[in-house]
Amino acid sequence: MKEEDRAHTAAVLDAPEEHAFAPTGEEDPPGPRLTPYASPMIAAKPGKLVVISGPSGVGKSTVVRQVLERLGPAIRLSISATTRPPRPGEREGVDYYFLTDGEFARRREAGEFLECIEVFGRGHWYGTLWSEVRSSLSQGKWVILEIDVDGAGEVLRQFPEAVTIFIRPESVEELERRLRNRGTESEDAVQRRLAVARHELQRTSQYEHQIVNVTVSRAVDDICEVLRSHGYASEDPAQAPATPCHD
Ligand code: 5GP
Repeated sequence: MKEEDRAHTAAVLDAPEEHAFAPTGEEDPPGPRLTPYASPMIAAKPGKLVVISGPSGVGKSTVVRQVLERLGPAIRLSISATTRPPRPGEREGVDYYFLTDGEFARRREAGEFLECIEVFGRGHWYGTLWSEVRSSLSQGKWVILEIDVDGAGEVLRQFPEAVTIFIRPESVEELERRLRNRGTESEDAVQRRLAVARHELQRTSQYEHQIVNVTVSRAVDDICEVLRSHGYASEDPAQAPATPCHD
């Protein structure tokens, strides 16, 4: 990480309140709390944000899961909030924080999101909570945001030093074949997903790195290589010397 990048990340982390980590208040709903900022320590070197995007069907989640397994405890995945209902098997606080429209809007107005957006073609809101990233970065951890291209633009505006990776299919035809092979989508849904994919594929110039997902293991190798080239080291930052935080 360049010195000025490090200084920028540290400044954003120090800036208090418009990026509020709004503490969860009394009106919080029951259920898992969205973790408020409570880190007692600041690592000597803040972590980095890693934005990973790619069209639906490209195999993003599988690749990201394996990257996390490969890279160890110094990197974690940010859990997003969404207003879309859970799919079968999805778990609150593991796959997403599932919020009502009203709760999402309240948290948006309270400044709790680093970025949030009604994702193109989905009809639901999605957002990255400050509480998912700020304390991890302060502790020197790297944080992966698996978000769409519009959200990526907003993150880059605030964190120009973020590492950005777009996972591409070999071709739109190959993506279409994968979507159809899932066998779970109606023709309408396949067409909608392809329209979103075309939108995303036109917005890839904002990403510093583009990885083609030919095989999962190759894509995982490529992403790990990119992160190491940006200075990622697998040691747990909790073991590194830290300085007390006096905020
Ligand atoms: P899905 O509903 O299939 O889980 O996700 C739909 C889309 O929303 C995907 O492109 C995913 O990357 C994007 N997404 C998930 N979480 C976030 C988020 O926090 N912010 C933004 N901007 N997009 C997100």
